Amino acid sequence: MLLRRSKLLLSPSSRAAGHLVCRYFDVIVVGGGHAGTEAAAAAARVGAETLLITQKIKTIGVLSCNPSLGGVGKGHLVREVDALDGLCGRAGDWAGIHFSILNRSKGPAVWGPRAQLDRDRYREFIQSELLSTPRLTVLEGAVEGLLVSEPNPDQPGQIKVTGVRIAGGAQPINAKSVILTTGTFLSGALFMGQTVSQGGRMGDPPSCSGLSHTLRETLGLKIGRLRTGTPPRIVKDTVQLSLTKVCPGDKQPTPFSFLNKETRCKPEEQLPCYLTHTTPGVERVVKEGLHLNAHIQQDTKGPRYCPSIESRVLRFPGREQQVWLEPEGVASDLLYPQGLSMTLPPELQLRLIREIPALKQAEIRTPGYGVQYDFVCPTQLSPSLQVKKAQGLFLAGQINGTTGYEEAAAQGLWAGVSAARAALSLPLLALSRTQSYIGVLIDDLIVQGVTEPYRMFTSRAEFRIVLRSDNADLRLSTRGFEEMGCVSMQRYKEAVRMTDGLRDAMAALESISMSCTKWMEKLGQIHLSKTKSAKLNGLELLEYKDVTFEMLASAFPGCLSAYLEFSKRLKIEGLYRPHYMMQEQEMERVRKDENLSLPQDVDYLTLPISLSMEAREVLDRAKPHTLGAATRLPGITPSAIVHLLNYVRKTD
Ligand code: FAD
Repeated sequence: MLLRRSKLLLSPSSRAAGHLVCRYFDVIVVGGGHAGTEAAAAAARVGAETLLITQKIKTIGVLSCNPSLGGVGKGHLVREVDALDGLCGRAGDWAGIHFSILNRSKGPAVWGPRAQLDRDRYREFIQSELLSTPRLTVLEGAVEGLLVSEPNPDQPGQIKVTGVRIAGGAQPINAKSVILTTGTFLSGALFMGQTVSQGGRMGDPPSCSGLSHTLRETLGLKIGRLRTGTPPRIVKDTVQLSLTKVCPGDKQPTPFSFLNKETRCKPEEQLPCYLTHTTPGVERVVKEGLHLNAHIQQDTKGPRYCPSIESRVLRFPGREQQVWLEPEGVASDLLYPQGLSMTLPPELQLRLIREIPALKQAEIRTPGYGVQYDFVCPTQLSPSLQVKKAQGLFLAGQINGTTGYEEAAAQGLWAGVSAARAALSLPLLALSRTQSYIGVLIDDLIVQGVTEPYRMFTSRAEFRIVLRSDNADLRLSTRGFEEMGCVSMQRYKEAVRMTDGLRDAMAALESISMSCTKWMEKLGQIHLSKTKSAKLNGLELLEYKDVTFEMLASAFPGCLSAYLEFSKRLKIEGLYRPHYMMQEQEMERVRKDENLSLPQDVDYLTLPISLSMEAREVLDRAKPHTLGAATRLPGITPSAIVHLLNYVRKTD
C-alpha cells in the first residue's frame, strides 16, 4: 500500500508561538530535521501529547545535503525505522526516482537498499504526514534555552529539564520530556573560501547561542565541534552527459517500507545517475586555492566518511576520484555531484569542476560550502538517549556526533519512544545490538563516543546474518506494538501475518525430505555438493544458490504453492539457515551479559574489587549500564570483566 499525499498546506495543528493555547506538553521536540520529525511522530504514536518546535515549518524534512536515502548499513536503518512505523521508509518510496540495491554481488545480509530522491516530494510527504499526526502540534519558533529545576539534593549532579524558552519573548512552554535534535545548527558556522558566517545550513540561522550555553554551563555537558560540507549544485543542461557513464536504477525497484508492495515511481520512469572522474587539473586547483580555503586550512583531513574533494586529493595525490552526478528531482534542472563537496571560493569551484571533461562548460547554480557545529559527546547519554545528568532531556541526530539522514532518523525514533514513555511514566527500554542496527548505533555512540562524524556500515554489526534488512519487520514490528507502543495495528497485523506465513512455509519445506539423488531427479539440473545418498529437506535445499522456492513449489504444489508470495524471503532464510543458528547461540551469550545491569551510582575509583587504575578510570568515566557495555569499553580487559561479574553477582 503506497500512501497518497496531498500537496502540503498548513494544517490546524501548526501554530505560531503567540497562538499556542496549551503551554504544557508531555514531550517537546526541538528541530524539524530527520531526527526531530521521527522523534515527534514516534512520541505521538506512543501516546504522548507532543509539540514539535522548529525554526521554519517550510523546512521540515528538508534534505540538507545529498538527495538520497539508504545505502550500505544506512538502508538497514531505514528498514528498521520503517518496521517501527517511522516515516522515512514510506517517504523514500513516495519520493524515490531511482532505486538500487547496493552490494548485490555479496550476500543479502549486507545488501544496501538505496534511492535517489525528489527533494520536493520527500519534504512534502514528511510535512503532510506530520501535520496530520494525532496528538502532535507543530510550532514555528527558535528555542533559545531550556527550563531546568533546581538540583535535587538527593541526587547530586542530576538536574531535571522541565521545558523550553522560545526566542522573541514568548512565554516558556513546559514538558515532562524535551528532545533536542538541532542537527548542524548548534553554534553553526558556514565556510566558503575565506568567508565565515553564522548559520546552521545555507539560508538558515544557527541555533540561538543560549541553547549551547545551557548545555555547556547549566548542565555541564562536554561539547565538541565537528564539520562537514556539501558540493555545488550543477545545471544539468550544461553538462556533457555523453562523456559520462549512464547508470540506470534497478529494473524492479525495491520499496523501503514493509507496507509497500511497489514504489510510486514506476520502473520505466526512473531517472539515471551519471558516473565521471576527476583529473589532475582538479588536484591543481585545490592546491592553488589552499590559502583561500579557511575550512580546509583548519583541518586538511576533514571527516572520513563524507570527505571534501580537497581532503580526498590531499590525502591521495595523483589518484583519480569518482564523481556521481545524481538527479535532484523530476522537475529539477540540477545535478548533485556526489564526491565534489568543497569549500573553495565560488570562482575556484567553477574552475575546479570545469577540469572534469563532462563538466567543461558546466554552470553552478549554488556553490558548495562547509559547516562547523557543536555536538554533545554521546558518552553522556544512557541507552534511552536520555542525558545521564539531566532527567527529562533526550538528544538525537547530528547533535550526538553522527552524520546522515538515516542515522538521525533512527536515533530520533528511539528518542521519541523513550521520551514519550518517560513522560507517560512507563519504564524505559533499551534496544540491544543483538536486536537491531539501531541498537548497534546507540551502543557505539554511548559506549565508544565519537571523534569524527559517525556513520553506519554493516561491518559495525557483529550479528549481520541475523540483523538483515529483509527481516527488520520480523525483528521489530511486533515488539514495537506489544512493548514499545509505537507501531500501528495495521502494521502489527501485517508483521504477524508475515511471521506466521514464513514459519508455516519453513515447516512445510522441512517436512519434505529425500536423498540428493531423488531431489536431482525431481528438480532436474541442480548441483548439490553432498553425497548422493545424503538426505536433505526442502529448507536445507534452499541453501544451494541454483535452487529457488519457485522450483520447489512447482515440484510440490499441494504443499508449497500457498506460500509463493514469500518466495524471495524464504530463499534468504534458507540461504542463511545454518549460519543463523550459530549466530543465535553467540547472541544468547551476549544477551546474558546485556541483562546484567551495573549500578549507576557506584564509585569505580574506590570499589573494593581487583581492578587496575586504568580500568577504574575508564569505568568511572563511562558508567556502563550493563556488563555487555563494559566489555566493549576500550581498556577493559577480560580479567576486569570477571571481577565485575563476580561483583554484580554478589550484590544481586
Ligand atoms: P538537521 O536535519 O540539521 O535538522 C535540524 C533542525 O533543527 C532544522 O530543522 C533546524 O531548523 C532545527 N533547529 C535547530 N536549532 C533549533 C532551535 N534552537 N529551535 C528550533 N529549531 C531548531 N550528511 C551526510 O550523510 N553526508 C554529507 O556529506 C553531509 N553533508 C552535509 C553538509 C552540510 C552543509 C549540511 C548542512 C549537512 C550535511 N549532512 C551530510 C548532514 C545531514 O544533513 C544530517 O546528517 C541530517 O540532516 C541530520 O539530521 P538532524 O535531524 O540531526 O538535523
